[in-house]
Amino acid sequence: MYRTHTCGELRAEHIGQHITLSGWVQTIRKLGGMTFVTLRDRYGLTQLFFDEHSGEELNEKVKQLGREFVIRIQGEVMERSSKNPKMPTGDIEIKVNELKVLNRSEVPPFTIEDETDGGEELRMKYRYLDLRRNPVKQKLELRHRMGQAIRRYLDKLAFMEIETPYLIKSTPEGARDFVVPSRLNRGSFYALPQSPQTFKQLLMVGGYDRYFQLVKCFRDEDFRADRQPEFTQVDCEMAFVDQEDVLTTFEGLAKYLFKEVKGIELDYQFPRLSYEEAMAKYGSDKPDVRFSMMMHEITDLAKGKGFKVFDQVDYIGGICAEGCANYSRKQLDALTQFVQTPQVGAKGLVYVKCNEDGSFKSSVDKFFSEDQLNEWMQAMNGKPGDLLLILAGEIRKTQTALGTLRLEVANQLELRDPNKFAPLWVVDFPLLEWNEDDERFFAMHHPFTSPKQEDMEMFDSNPGDMRANAYDFVINGVEIGGGSIRIFNPEIQQKMFSALGIDKQEADEKFGFLLDAFKYGAPPHGGIAFGFDRWCAVFGGSDSIRDFIAFPKNNAGRDLMIDSPAGIDQKQLEELGLIIREEE
Ligand code: ASP
Repeated sequence: MYRTHTCGELRAEHIGQHITLSGWVQTIRKLGGMTFVTLRDRYGLTQLFFDEHSGEELNEKVKQLGREFVIRIQGEVMERSSKNPKMPTGDIEIKVNELKVLNRSEVPPFTIEDETDGGEELRMKYRYLDLRRNPVKQKLELRHRMGQAIRRYLDKLAFMEIETPYLIKSTPEGARDFVVPSRLNRGSFYALPQSPQTFKQLLMVGGYDRYFQLVKCFRDEDFRADRQPEFTQVDCEMAFVDQEDVLTTFEGLAKYLFKEVKGIELDYQFPRLSYEEAMAKYGSDKPDVRFSMMMHEITDLAKGKGFKVFDQVDYIGGICAEGCANYSRKQLDALTQFVQTPQVGAKGLVYVKCNEDGSFKSSVDKFFSEDQLNEWMQAMNGKPGDLLLILAGEIRKTQTALGTLRLEVANQLELRDPNKFAPLWVVDFPLLEWNEDDERFFAMHHPFTSPKQEDMEMFDSNPGDMRANAYDFVINGVEIGGGSIRIFNPEIQQKMFSALGIDKQEADEKFGFLLDAFKYGAPPHGGIAFGFDRWCAVFGGSDSIRDFIAFPKNNAGRDLMIDSPAGIDQKQLEELGLIIREEE
């Protein structure tokens, strides 16, 4: 027998019992004639002690022990004289009378403790060792609990978990596909799914009116912070539903998870913001509403007053940073530099300090009177002691830049409380998005997303203004999920393809199977997919999804442990009919 208990289990009530434990040696300390060893397994740590009077044979074995050796011990549970209240097993220790080394270990490349000396790359290379550390384990445990709770909730609501294939062809999410060459069909390639989108719609045609799946998705995107080329979605689809049904069902899921996993009861309806409102108030389609500091447009008040910079633009807006009138020159310069970085992309920043005595100090004193600045302050709900930060330019770009500035200021003021959760829905997304470079529309969500019934007429007149039955679920400024009600009528689907510049032939080539299926009685349907890794990260209070994946890839999409991607044999290439061309 390897163990009677786990290393996290023994308490004062076990004192006097003879037990067997197995695990890894975390630390070894010698103190006079005693050797103390911390033994670790998945469940915790237990202190062992070896008394030099316990016999030569045991002493010899103890001397040989090293970090991460796998051992089995037998001994007696003793009360600890100096108890450790930080350790769940801290009231006891084990007086060992028998030790068996089950396996030796080389000296690990970093210390396997909560605080480690190993850098991120090193820990990724030896991920199996990193997995032994508590902080990593806790994150995977959270992920496990999330997954189990999701399954429980959806199962109760009659959702069926159905697997869909990985070797498929292109899906409509709009990223680049990972492709897999086919040996048996030389010159042909599978694509790995960017999502099971088309399959879940086919399941609706197949009559499985409530589907879900915790599923891997693959997107070959350029480097972006905190993206993984393969990630997990909680993918869901329902038939005979409208948008309201979908939102209600999955708001229920979110509340269930908050309660089950975080112990937080949210007994209110989550706010719903239209895309327009989200952009106007927060400059983002995934607003962080844990704090207010909303954006206010002051175009009417500030344009046409003789300040050239403002007179040329179609949007002027700002935020009011409460109590920040005392910001120094240096702080303001830093904010100006921040908005001018390419990622934010604003030309400059106008500030107005609302001094405690009611006077103003601003970067546009020359152009605007105190009365005018007072009007701005009123419009932005400012008061003496506050600082107004104003950007001007083209509407969407400036709103977005202001939204980014809003988050930056909130970070500085520590308004983004990691222990507070503010879930919400963003609805009424535009159906289409104009792409300047390609000079054509792209689907904002994907080409199967249904336009709003009342906007249907606009396909021929002004498609750019059409709104979609699409929605996103957001927590604390992070997009957790998104979905839509789908088009299930072939004529409307045709119109959508036309608006996207996809002709009949291309539509048939790419999605003919789905269009065919829709000829045989497709029910009205819609769904949503949640980024499972990201949801775990938000619940775990972390910015990084990588921490919540057992075997993640680094920022360059490499798995440092198995060293992948890697070349393949010449023989394999030949079988596949592939030749690798040297880079030009
Ligand atoms: N397939 C979509 C996505 O991955 C989600 C959905 O529309 O259900 O974003």
